[in-house]
Amino acid sequence: MQARFDNSYARDLPGLYVPWKPAEVPAPRLLYLNRPLAEELGLDLATLPPGEVAAVIAGNRVPEGAEPIAQVYAGHQFGGFSPQLGDGRAVLLGEVVDRNGQRRDIALKGSGRTPFSRGGDGKAAVGPMLREVIIGEAMHALGIPTTRALAVAATGEDVYRERVLPGAVLARVAASHLRVGTFEFFASRDDREKLRQLADYAIARHDPDLAGTPGRYLQLLARVTQRQAELIAQWMNVGFIHGVMNTDNMTISGETIDYGPCAFMEAYDPRAVFSSIDHGGRYAYGNQPAIAQWNLARFAEALLPLVVGDNEDSAPAVAEATAVLETFPKLFQAALLRGLRAKLGFAESGDDAADAGLANDWLGLLHAQKVDFTLGWRRLADAAAGNDAPLQSLFADAEPLNAWLTRWRARCAQDATHSTETRVQQMRRASPWVIPRNHRVEEALQAASETDDLGPFERLLAALRNPYEVTAENAAYAQPAPEAVTACYQTF
Ligand code: AMP
Ligand code: MG
Ligand code: MG
Repeated sequence: MQARFDNSYARDLPGLYVPWKPAEVPAPRLLYLNRPLAEELGLDLATLPPGEVAAVIAGNRVPEGAEPIAQVYAGHQFGGFSPQLGDGRAVLLGEVVDRNGQRRDIALKGSGRTPFSRGGDGKAAVGPMLREVIIGEAMHALGIPTTRALAVAATGEDVYRERVLPGAVLARVAASHLRVGTFEFFASRDDREKLRQLADYAIARHDPDLAGTPGRYLQLLARVTQRQAELIAQWMNVGFIHGVMNTDNMTISGETIDYGPCAFMEAYDPRAVFSSIDHGGRYAYGNQPAIAQWNLARFAEALLPLVVGDNEDSAPAVAEATAVLETFPKLFQAALLRGLRAKLGFAESGDDAADAGLANDWLGLLHAQKVDFTLGWRRLADAAAGNDAPLQSLFADAEPLNAWLTRWRARCAQDATHSTETRVQQMRRASPWVIPRNHRVEEALQAASETDDLGPFERLLAALRNPYEVTAENAAYAQPAPEAVTACYQTF
């Protein structure tokens, strides 16, 4: 593979990783290649023979210019601190500057044991890696910041989980792999020098305008707080449930990372949780904003020694960091309301409390009558176009809906500049018609993993590329699963 690697992490941050090679695997075979992304990165993957690409993605051939490393990090997992996690089944091959001038990490996941593997085998299976492709590409098409899948190669190896599964390696592209947990690792060891190097590196990479400024560490906290507020608001407005919002799975870049037990909600329910390991519902849909703020508090704690600096009294730094953290609910609510106004068909401004109230009453209706979140929103756009019947048919009792629609129409009428057509268009651009429905994802993964049939996976992926438009590819993918399937669905 020809790529102009420029590996700033390996170069600038010795001691924050170990050089490490991906494991050799017996029979690499390319299952998926994201050609547009390869093109964006300036990689020549599309012109290489598939066998060569498979060898690179599976880890058998380290491309020229790559300097594979395993990064170290820590993290709060389900609230408890793990002082050392790190890339247990991943290596960072290196970085490339893409066609837009953006620096992007290229990493392999499922590439074998590393010094950070703890008890794990370092491997990954075909199903979960293709799942990461589907959900990540769906998020990207929805316009939500995310790491992306570049390719997946089968390894020809068995992986032992509850069952024997075919093995795979995913090549993942990210704005960086810096996590809240990376900072926690060095903070918890009182290694202020490495912590400072890491923070300055993060600033140079993600917030270069702050580089060298006196208040930069506090500002970094503010920027990450802002990005996460925006990100979580976008998740909420499409019904995305991450499922494992540990601090090692929260990025500094503001991209969504680590698609494990994640899923999109079907019937609206703030308590919705799909992960079988999340017994207490810590990472349920409705908890995500509070958890994000909790994670940011762990980030603030990790940064605190740098914010205090050489000052004898740490109290002012604590007060300042706390003040930044306390901006999160407001930033989140503002981002959420911006998204909700778009979905409700309103102009960008209005009475915040009244609009939020109207949105909450709508969500309350969806909840009370177990209405599919995605279809509910989408059919509200039909109602804006003058056709209430499709929306009404989602409700067992249309009475409270009709009362709400009257209030909503009165509010719509206040936006004098919005024609019906612009309103409907705006709503259909803000509420997807198709999301990765759990039963469709399962169907695609099962076919790929069990019968080596990639057809359903490819068709689903094609359907998800245009989530806001009704197309020939996606028309069949918009329907919810039969209730019996949804009720007991688990991702993990
Ligand atoms: P996650 O919950 O997916 O974010 O993973 C938490 C930690 O477990 C990370 O440090 C991973 O690298 C590590 N890990 C997950 N699966 C494996 C595996 N099969 N082998 C080794 N380490 C793993
Ligand atoms: Mg992770
Ligand atoms: Mg994971």
